[in-house]
Amino acid sequence: MNIACIAHDEKKDDLVAFMTAYEQVFSGHTLYATGTTGKRIMEATSLNLHMFRSGPLGGDQQIGAMIAENKMDAVLFFRDPLTAQPHEPDINALIRLSDVYSIPLATNMATAELLVNALKRGELEWRRVIAERTEGDRHD
Ligand code: PGA
Repeated sequence: MNIACIAHDEKKDDLVAFMTAYEQVFSGHTLYATGTTGKRIMEATSLNLHMFRSGPLGGDQQIGAMIAENKMDAVLFFRDPLTAQPHEPDINALIRLSDVYSIPLATNMATAELLVNALKRGELEWRRVIAERTEGDRHD
């Protein structure tokens, strides 16, 4: 599964703790992240992440582009609802695209827990069917 990790500054410690706690589970997947979030996770764990630009510099849009290609299977987006973000339109676009493509998206740790447990139980395998179908459509 391709999984995107993004955390706003006030939530980065939470996401790092979360990724550390579930490092074993995430090590079996392909991980992507916005710049600073990815750097923090790589410093704290032995996970490898493909890093995009920092969120305010276009990283959210790069992840959004993968969602638009139906290439992202889940998104962990630990948002800070109490601080204004300069790239609010990009954040909204990413969330909107997740809804357009029905991509599982956790915007806080409580939902992320549910998502990672579903991942462990193989309950996101339906995404592979979608990916194969999307790939088939491209070749038609
Ligand atoms: P960052 O971006 O990981 O580069 O801090 C996250 C964001 O603010 O959207």
